[in-house]
Amino acid sequence: MKPLASISLDLDNQWAYMKTHGDVGWEEFPSYLDVLIPYLLDVLHNLDLKITIFVVGQDVALRKNCAALRLLKDSGHELGNHSLSHEPWMHLYQKDKIEREILQTEEQIIRLTGQKPTGFRGPGFSWSEDLHQILVENGYMYDATTFPTYIVPVATAYHFHKSNLTSEERKKRKRIRGGFREALRPIDPYYWKLPSGGKMLEMPVTTVPILRMPFHMSYLLFLGRVSVYIMLLYLRIGLTMCRLTGTEPSFVIHPTDLLDSIQVPAMHFFPGMDLSADQKLQIFKKVIQELSKHFTLVNMRFHAESILQRNDIRIRCL
Ligand SMILES: [Zn+2]
Repeated sequence: MKPLASISLDLDNQWAYMKTHGDVGWEEFPSYLDVLIPYLLDVLHNLDLKITIFVVGQDVALRKNCAALRLLKDSGHELGNHSLSHEPWMHLYQKDKIEREILQTEEQIIRLTGQKPTGFRGPGFSWSEDLHQILVENGYMYDATTFPTYIVPVATAYHFHKSNLTSEERKKRKRIRGGFREALRPIDPYYWKLPSGGKMLEMPVTTVPILRMPFHMSYLLFLGRVSVYIMLLYLRIGLTMCRLTGTEPSFVIHPTDLLDSIQVPAMHFFPGMDLSADQKLQIFKKVIQELSKHFTLVNMRFHAESILQRNDIRIRCL
């Protein structure tokens, strides 16, 4: 019996990338979901993968996305909550505003699928004690937000350098989580212990144990452009370290790991969009093949349930 690894995709839409990049026009919520979702479902079906898709409430609320999102309904993939407005500084909000972000998205997902989501991932690794308390109060099983790596501060600096943001917007975005304190949080799943007495299961985005270097799909793609051989070697080292330390990975994908700028011309500004969808797919297949050699690939809910049943997780204080 192989250990488990969970696969998830953050369904960040075109407008969310434009908003972060500081591009005008994001307020009209331009969407690529009608291109992405049928393609994504086809790719996952061919690989026989059932994953967790974290959905942004704002997208479900818009009529123009209905037909595409309805395809997710009976697809067999778990739908998770990825907030209403995808604001990476959500942890700075008052509790009632965070509550709206979560509950309104939950309502939209229920309207779409008839099922209540049980997992949450904060936009841009954004979490707070209030957020965890709201998740507990509303019966969520897990939070999948933290990303324990040193790369985020470096990536944020690069992003500021490349973006069209005004100084006011830069100030706001400087408060995005990702300092070195975040980098030192546990890589394995653990409980957040809340002042109310409740606890929330945290499933961190896995980074290479000890080294804390990322190996989510976007990073692998970045290496894969240099050399697929080096990318596979790096992934094998990461997975070997996971096996040696008993870490069951939570592996993350983003839409830009599969799409190219021919499918979505407006996304040409985003790094890696010049690589063709076919090249990306070949790299993605190799990564999934490598992961499935050593792990049974499941969605996050299945993974969380299995961890809770084993009942051996550490309890951490916030
Ligand atoms: Zn996101």
